[in-house]
Amino acid sequence: MKELKTTQLFALFISCVALIGIIAFGGYWTHSINKAAINQQTSVLGSLSRSQAAFLERRLSNAFSATKILAQEIQHHDGKEYWFEEYAVDLLDSMDGIAMLQIEPNGVIEKISPLKGNEAAIGLDILAGSKHKDEALLAIKNHQYINIGPIKLVQGGLGIIGRSPVFLYKGTQKEVFWGFTSAVIYLDSLLNATQLTEFEKEGYRYKLTRVDSETNELITLLESAKPLTETQATSNLVVPAGEWSLSISKPMKAELFNNTITGNIISFIVALIISVSLYLILMQPQKLRALVKEKTKELEELAYTDPLTDLPNRRYLQESLPGILYNNHKHQRMAAFIYFDLDDFKRINDTIGHDVGDQILVIVANRLNKFKQESHLIVRLGGDEFAILLNDIKSYEEVVDYADRILDSTRAPITLDNKKFSVQTTLGIAMVPKHGRDLITIMQNADMAMYQAKLEGKNKYSFFRNSMRSDAYSLIQDEYDLAQGIKENEFELYYQPQFDLETNQICAAEALIRWNHPEKGLVFPDHFIPLAESSGKIVELGYWILENGIASQARRKQQGEPEIVLHINLSPKQISDPNIVHLVQELLLKYRVSPNTIGFEITETLILEEIDLAKKVLQIFKNMGMCIAIDDFGTGYSSLAQLKNLPVSLLKIDRSFVMDLENDADDKKIVEAIIAMTHKLHLKVLAEGIETEEQHRMLNDLQCDFGQGYYVSKPVTEEEFRKLVHAHNNKNAYVNA
Ligand code: C2E
Ligand code: CA
Ligand code: CA
Repeated sequence: MKELKTTQLFALFISCVALIGIIAFGGYWTHSINKAAINQQTSVLGSLSRSQAAFLERRLSNAFSATKILAQEIQHHDGKEYWFEEYAVDLLDSMDGIAMLQIEPNGVIEKISPLKGNEAAIGLDILAGSKHKDEALLAIKNHQYINIGPIKLVQGGLGIIGRSPVFLYKGTQKEVFWGFTSAVIYLDSLLNATQLTEFEKEGYRYKLTRVDSETNELITLLESAKPLTETQATSNLVVPAGEWSLSISKPMKAELFNNTITGNIISFIVALIISVSLYLILMQPQKLRALVKEKTKELEELAYTDPLTDLPNRRYLQESLPGILYNNHKHQRMAAFIYFDLDDFKRINDTIGHDVGDQILVIVANRLNKFKQESHLIVRLGGDEFAILLNDIKSYEEVVDYADRILDSTRAPITLDNKKFSVQTTLGIAMVPKHGRDLITIMQNADMAMYQAKLEGKNKYSFFRNSMRSDAYSLIQDEYDLAQGIKENEFELYYQPQFDLETNQICAAEALIRWNHPEKGLVFPDHFIPLAESSGKIVELGYWILENGIASQARRKQQGEPEIVLHINLSPKQISDPNIVHLVQELLLKYRVSPNTIGFEITETLILEEIDLAKKVLQIFKNMGMCIAIDDFGTGYSSLAQLKNLPVSLLKIDRSFVMDLENDADDKKIVEAIIAMTHKLHLKVLAEGIETEEQHRMLNDLQCDFGQGYYVSKPVTEEEFRKLVHAHNNKNAYVNA
């Protein structure tokens, strides 16, 4: 902000300097232009005055010459005048501009040519009381030609008289003054000799003056109607007598004024444009910088925000957390870092579509935002992963309370396009600083806590414990081991017989997987199936189970063994695999095994979670003639009523009901009810975990169709199973018989 102001002031200063400078220069420039115009005008006026003066000179020198010629003639005729009339006519003819010629013996006008109209002047004594007596006397005295006028001529009009004194016997002792010879020029004709009147019409002004030889007074002879203006040129006339000068001017004031105004306006506009442009140019980098800053901020905001949910993103957490942690440390505050993702979100994405997945994420984020407090930070880390930092908390109860609210808010059903979705989340919580002081440790520990919570059954939260760290390490090891085991083909299917309770004949078997671990020996599925499911390896392992189960049926057929139905356990993840139907069909074809001899066992939890999908897939299998069994019935929430709508053929009563059948009257009632209801639905029923003869007998009495349990056999290898079927069925065939 401060920087902006400084630049603005600087730009303003420079622009003002430029403005003043340019205006000053403009003023100077206008002045120069005016000066040049004046100079040009003066030079034009100069040449005009010179040319006009030349005309005047000629007229005046004509007058001079005429008086001189007459004077010579008088001298030549010894003062006699009889020749004058004739001579004067010739002279006037040959000399332009002379109005009349006069001879004035002793200063008295005696003869005038032409006489007509000028008679009034005859007899005028110049030396007697005339206005120009003194000048005449001076001329005599100085033997000098003089000009007189302008005078009002006796015969009328204004004129100039050129007058030469005439002396007889010149240059001798007897030299005497004879009189004057004069030539009269009308002022009008003098003016007409020039172009001054035309010029006047064009706006020029002029003034013809001469200095009076006696008084030194400046006498104006000709003058324009309007007075001379400042810009003028004067030419001195080269004439025989006196100092004559012609001045010509033309008014320039308006032109100069216009020039000044135009010049100043132009320079002001130019100055304004340049200084404003300069200001803008100078401010431009600042503006650009401001723009860059603004854009950078926008980009930063983008970089720190998750575009889908508008929540801060992982990067924001990474960059802001150290500061928050430092402040907490300084003020000895406690915080909780909650890390979580949505359970089985991948399945929604894969099966229903990413659009719906995205919408669910937005809804979850909005719900979280609703009970967010000022000091809390909610972050979307990516995918379906979120993190919440509860800053400045006072107790664990506060965290527990908050964790419950997260679980509740996500659990609330989501309706999209008239479809109801239910998502769940599992939270891992790390306390700060107890479980970590830096981002990595805190996140790792919260992640571990979440993982633990998932292992413990999802849709819950778990606080980090130090013991989790070692669990996590062994888990990583186990996962690696499992992958290795699949790769090295260390698994084997065992077969547990399922028998008809009435006839005690083995008619089916359940395939149960075992891991021949190179170090641990035989490992049971409870130790690796949950890991295979949580790590996603179950899909690969499940395929192995399917192929080997179906292959074993093919071998039995090839070896001519009695036909039995093989029940294979299908994990929920396998049902969600969009390829499952295709895979099963391919395997049946490949091993030429009839679908009637294969069954699937599915836990009821799966069916409840994804009822629509499960229904669809199972229906296809059932239509193919496969047996679909509900496993572990009674342990979950499914009701018998729901079974009605499911493509199921067999129900497996969970071992927990069979275990105490002999002693627990309630269990007996439940089993009895399940069997009755199942039959009402036209389904078959199998009791799991029959270990005693009594259980076997009771279940048979209760009309249970099939049984499975240690009473007949534990799960055994393929080879052992083959033998077992023969031995058992033969023995019981005998009993039955
Ligand atoms: P489950 O599907 O309920 O399998 C029956 C389990 O009960 C088997 O344990 C079997 O050995 C045991 N059992 C059978 N009769 C008796 C009895 O009379 N008394 C007692 N105490 N137990 C009996 P197992 O083989 O350890 O399998 C455990 C679980 O592992 C299975 O429970 C099943 O959920 C899972 N599992 C086993 N094999 C597979 C498989 O191939 N695929 C999948 N997805 N899961 C499998
Ligand atoms: Ca089973
Ligand atoms: Ca079971």
